[in-house]
Amino acid sequence: MAYLRFKALEMLSFKDYRKDNAVEVPAKLSELFCQNVFSEETMRSYLTQDAFKLIQDAIKRGTKIQRDVADQIAVAMKDWALSKGATHYTHWFQPLTGSTAEKHDSFFTPFESDRAIERFSGGMLIQQEPDASSFPNGGIRNTFEARGYTAWDPTSPAFIVGTTLCIPSIFISYTGETLDYKAPLLRALHALDTAATDICKSYFDKNVTKVSPTLGWEQEYFLVDSALYQSRPDLVITGKTLLGHSPAKGQQLDDHYFGSIPTRVMNFMKELEIECMKLGIPVTTRHNEVAPNQFELAPMFEEVNVAVDHNSLLMDIMARVAHKHHFHILFHEKPFAGVNGSGKHNNWSLATDTGENLLSPGKNPKKNLQFLTFFVNTLKAVHDYADLLRASIASASNDHRLGANEAPPAIISAFIGTQLFSVLEELEKVTDGKLSPEEKTELKLNVVGKIPMILLDNTDRNRTSPFAFTGNKFEIRAVGSSANCAEVMTVMNSIMAKQLQEFKVEVDALIEKGLKKDEAIFNILREYIKVSKNIMFEGDGYSDDWALEAEKRGLSNLKTTPEALKREMDDKFVALYESLGIYTHREVEARNEIKLEKYSTVISIEATVLCDIARNHIIPCALNYQNRLIENVKGLKDIFSEKEFKKLAGEQMNMIAEISGHVSIIKVEVDRLLGAISTAKSAANSQLMAEIFCNEVIPLFDKIRASSDALEMMVDDELWPMTKYRELLFTR
Ligand code: ADP
Ligand code: MG
Repeated sequence: MAYLRFKALEMLSFKDYRKDNAVEVPAKLSELFCQNVFSEETMRSYLTQDAFKLIQDAIKRGTKIQRDVADQIAVAMKDWALSKGATHYTHWFQPLTGSTAEKHDSFFTPFESDRAIERFSGGMLIQQEPDASSFPNGGIRNTFEARGYTAWDPTSPAFIVGTTLCIPSIFISYTGETLDYKAPLLRALHALDTAATDICKSYFDKNVTKVSPTLGWEQEYFLVDSALYQSRPDLVITGKTLLGHSPAKGQQLDDHYFGSIPTRVMNFMKELEIECMKLGIPVTTRHNEVAPNQFELAPMFEEVNVAVDHNSLLMDIMARVAHKHHFHILFHEKPFAGVNGSGKHNNWSLATDTGENLLSPGKNPKKNLQFLTFFVNTLKAVHDYADLLRASIASASNDHRLGANEAPPAIISAFIGTQLFSVLEELEKVTDGKLSPEEKTELKLNVVGKIPMILLDNTDRNRTSPFAFTGNKFEIRAVGSSANCAEVMTVMNSIMAKQLQEFKVEVDALIEKGLKKDEAIFNILREYIKVSKNIMFEGDGYSDDWALEAEKRGLSNLKTTPEALKREMDDKFVALYESLGIYTHREVEARNEIKLEKYSTVISIEATVLCDIARNHIIPCALNYQNRLIENVKGLKDIFSEKEFKKLAGEQMNMIAEISGHVSIIKVEVDRLLGAISTAKSAANSQLMAEIFCNEVIPLFDKIRASSDALEMMVDDELWPMTKYRELLFTR
């Protein structure tokens, strides 16, 4: 193993990847934009005017595409793809494994005995049948029809990767259960659109016919040299390091954040951006992050469904491009102890088809009332469904981050800035029932009317809040870097849809009773503010005081995935999904089961890998070095007098004893860990199993690691088998 470590380091020093992989960027990146996308512009030139109009209606208004139109679109897509050198097509989907899936079929179709053509029909475009039996299904398939199929999602454009035409699709079982991330997301977006459009139309602007939630994600990641990566079995198998002493220099100097980007990384970024441009992923921002070898990439925001697809596609492309630059990309939330982990902020807002951002204050009181309506409803939704939001970002790897003083805590609170907070406090004082003319004027001029001015100089930037209002959008900060954004977006848009539906009913009831529209809205908002104030927190989310304060307020602090997932099955949450038609009870259950199983599997693999490395690499290495020390002591004894020997060999003898101490701790703890793994595996159900892994298995990691890391500091560097943190983190 030490051989592998040094071989990796040697490979690195002999290479000059900086020069070998220099990337030429065209003068105008914009010219590459959407080159490999079956974009609106491409459709316009490949389709008849009628077909073009019909597909645009399907994209923008969700109308159904008839079979003959699908045939036309398929032919156009194929012609375009062939012109780009594509030979195959695939339905591209996002099963619950967490990565994207594809099954390529060739356009090539033989006929008669010796002839062939390239063929692609509407039927092939609309539906494909991958062998679904190996994807996670949470037991759905035990009782239902075993097969599943993928179906084209025309609202996300097809694209070409390599020589394959990729068609974004949903994945469902033949009995109708969703088996992927996209299908429920589309349902949630539809529910949100209906509810929000209704409110816009009824109260604010008749011209609005569609509301689309928007998402701007920010993707953090680590890059590790490929050879060094390959030399660490824990990284290869679990995506994170399970052992490793912190380097003398970590991130204490904060010199990496926004620092100049290393050349080799820059080459990777340039090539990545070229690929993103061609695929229509509008990336605009890149920079170093806080930890050494940690970076971030962010695009211009897009409609949620497309943004989610783009993030999934990006993660895939990033891994491939990294490979070309001899890097391995780590999306794990906490690959290294002692330095920051990675997250994926989800910036979320609502856009109307009239070009307005509903979470952006306007220029007049009317627009501001619209802003306040959506703003306060968002807070109320998050207040009522905080635990569901928490569950949507729960994973074994994200547990390391949440609450670790580098990412928001597991307590869901909202930060809105002191000035908006005081606006809400004013609104809380609004009279019950009808408002006096004076009060109306006062509200118009001094409360609602002042919002844009307030926001202009609102520089509050609380980085410790999991849900922060940042001027014209909310930023959900607790999402893990490896997560599929769809999950949190499905929850966010579902809870908002539900909330808006309720709001409409309540406001209409007051209007019915004789209140004016604005009065009714103010009355309901006042009540929402009273209830939701509980989750508003402007202070330091990392502090212990906040945990205590949150407890007093009765807020949940679901620190671990099993705790969060247990809440997910709450009747209230299941009812929410059922009423909006997003999931059936069975689907909620199946997904919950899948996540619990995944949690246990991840911890089980980590535990097993840790035991293997400790027994097969660390202990032998420690004993090897100890033997050297013993030889040394024996030699000293041979050549020195008893008195001198005692003086000279004292330290070595202590080290020999210390090594034995650590070796025996490792041995004992590994045995306990193996025992705990089998206890966990024999648990009666998935919830219990995940809890045992969480509470009985994970705590045992620490002692093994502590002794191993102590040995790393004692043993001769040349013998140490595991590539060290300083090598992994500072080699670029
Ligand atoms: P910051 O100061 O936090 O960097 P930015 O305004 O630069 O704020 O935005 C950061 C992220 O927010 C970007 O990914 C961007 O696309 C996204 N974003 C901006 N406006 C919106 C919006 N209306 N809806 C969704 N995301 C948005
Ligand atoms: Mg951010």
